Amino acid sequence: MRTIDSLADEIAATGFRCTGCGACCSEVAGGSNVVMVAPVEVRAVADAIGSTFAGVAEPYPESVETEDGTRYTFDWCLRRDGGRCLFLEGGRCSVYRARPWICRTYPFMLDGDRLIVSACSGLGAEISREKACLLAALLIGRQEAERVEEEGIRAVMASTAMPPGTRAVVDSEGVWPVYG
Ligand code: SF4
Repeated sequence: MRTIDSLADEIAATGFRCTGCGACCSEVAGGSNVVMVAPVEVRAVADAIGSTFAGVAEPYPESVETEDGTRYTFDWCLRRDGGRCLFLEGGRCSVYRARPWICRTYPFMLDGDRLIVSACSGLGAEISREKACLLAALLIGRQEAERVEEEGIRAVMASTAMPPGTRAVVDSEGVWPVYG
């Protein structure tokens, strides 16, 4: 597992400063801004703006279809409107304090111990040690949150028999029939 110090070193060597361009919140290529979220993240956004779960999230677009006609996807994604995140207002995030892990850590993510860097116009800019450490801590927190969510999904999958033809979202809290 990566330490905050070693990750911060790598982030600092890469360099990053958000330019506020909003490109990561808008669709610049097919599905580029799909923000996958766990139920706890959906509720955080919904609570912040007085909305509902369904008002904030929809089923993650990639689904799995089995031979018996069962179709399911894992987790949710933030709703978008015309390719833009529903919560991008005037070029700013209107749910900034409640924004999901992916938004907090973009353009970085961890794949195991490997730091993955996505395209971003803010890369290469000087970053303070304090901010690099904060991003590193967030990345480690995100990885742990994703591990817990995946573990929850596996437990739900192992304990739930889905009748043939089920169309649903599976998250760490259960199976939610949502598809028409
Ligand atoms: S929640 Fe905020 S930061 Fe995340 S994609 Fe939407 S507008 Fe951007």
